[in-house]
Amino acid sequence: EASRFEKLSDTAWRVAPFGAMRVPAIIYATESLIAEMDDKVFDQVTNVAKLPGIVRAAYAMPDAHWGYGFPIGGVAAFDAGEGGVVSAGGVGFDVSCGVRTHLTHLTREQILSVQQALADALFEHVPAGVGSEGEIALDDAETTAMLLGGAQWAVERGFGRAEDLDRIEEKGRATDADPAAVSEHARQRQRREMGTLGSGNHYLEVQEVAEIFDPAVAAGYGLIQGECVVTIHCGSRGLGHQIGTEFLREMVISAQQYGIVLPDRELACAPIESELGQKYLGAMRAAINCALANREIIGHLARQVFARFFERAELPLMFDVSHNTCKTERHAIDGETRPLFIHRKGATRAFGPGHESLPEALRPFGQPVLIGGSMGAGSYVLAGMETSERQAFSSACHGAGRRMSRHAATRAWGGRKVVDDLRAQGIIVKSPSLRGVAEEAPGAYKDVRAVVDSAQAAGLAKKVAFLKPLICVKG
Ligand code: 5GP
Ligand code: MN
Ligand code: MN
Repeated sequence: EASRFEKLSDTAWRVAPFGAMRVPAIIYATESLIAEMDDKVFDQVTNVAKLPGIVRAAYAMPDAHWGYGFPIGGVAAFDAGEGGVVSAGGVGFDVSCGVRTHLTHLTREQILSVQQALADALFEHVPAGVGSEGEIALDDAETTAMLLGGAQWAVERGFGRAEDLDRIEEKGRATDADPAAVSEHARQRQRREMGTLGSGNHYLEVQEVAEIFDPAVAAGYGLIQGECVVTIHCGSRGLGHQIGTEFLREMVISAQQYGIVLPDRELACAPIESELGQKYLGAMRAAINCALANREIIGHLARQVFARFFERAELPLMFDVSHNTCKTERHAIDGETRPLFIHRKGATRAFGPGHESLPEALRPFGQPVLIGGSMGAGSYVLAGMETSERQAFSSACHGAGRRMSRHAATRAWGGRKVVDDLRAQGIIVKSPSLRGVAEEAPGAYKDVRAVVDSAQAAGLAKKVAFLKPLICVKG
């Protein structure tokens, strides 16, 4: 396999089409990051390149690791007019999982003066863990309103502020959502899960802006060294998972009927223009709205807790961006702008400066790209660059990416020890599950600095700030 890699630069590798590949595969990473990726990433990204209607190339980001069908850290664009497909596995089960960051304008010292009590209060107020339930119960009509309205719905119901919406992709609401395509079971699963973090990899962190790389962009984003931010990572909970599961099953069954040869069952997909493809897109967009509403509610819960400790803290939203989506966007192919269906799975949209869809206040600086690292290593804020568009359709990494499986991590570390070690470093971790903490031990993830340096060198996104955790509420 190594012999198939053609070096484009220190951080970009091309695999020319072989077998049934319709387009090349491109992997953005240093040689040492590629060596760390499981071989499955190579198999998966080259298999994605075999799908009907794929345009330009199948991409893997520097944080790529094995996923269901598509790699996590994968990007692929499809053209409906050329028989292009939509794939539930190419979006991921946690539809619209994503990250938002609120500014607090509180200093590190102010947070440290209440660190333990604040950690306890956040843990008590923001439901976390497998199957966690919140205070909000939705009946069927409210579920439909939420699936149509996203964060706008949350704001209308008093969970959040109108000015937040401008700082969320698509102004907080995916259009063309189809609540009728969302099954009764998916709705049931969400009845008590609004405003909950969910399990494992999801978190709410209070982070210190510990280092600034690009002062102008950081200032534009409102990031000030020594001040703290609140970052929330979660998605569409049970509803998104149920939609992913159901449509994946349907797509496996119907692939043959649509004449699609699947290189891997897990790549089940349907033509964008087919009834099933349209139904999935409608349900998936409804799940995006569920995730956007969920993060808006959690932001509201965080504000309530902060108000108890710091009466004047406003917690304005800096930005909210998803990393498991399929979005219709216009991109230039051979000099001609076309609507494409961009799958980003464990990959973050990264529009460069001047992009019309960015809120005015952020437009000169490029889109904030919010990257998780680990609860020990810290996280990064990046910015979309002018070059991003020429790379992977304006996409960048979404995290450090796993170095080992959850199972391997639980054999390597004990949850209690991970919590104690982090506390010795000044980081308070609160979680309902010690096993979950072990699965998420910092050592289970790749070196986030190497990943973001790769992303920057490859022209995907540039470094703006490094965030160091002080409190981590883990699912
Ligand atoms: P995913 O969306 O793939 O589940 O996770 C995205 C990224 O979040 C992971 O690749 C990892 O680098 C990062 N991450 C996982 N757990 C934590 C955490 O507790 N804190 C922070 N800051 N990042 C995390
Ligand atoms: Mn998720
Ligand atoms: Mn995620």
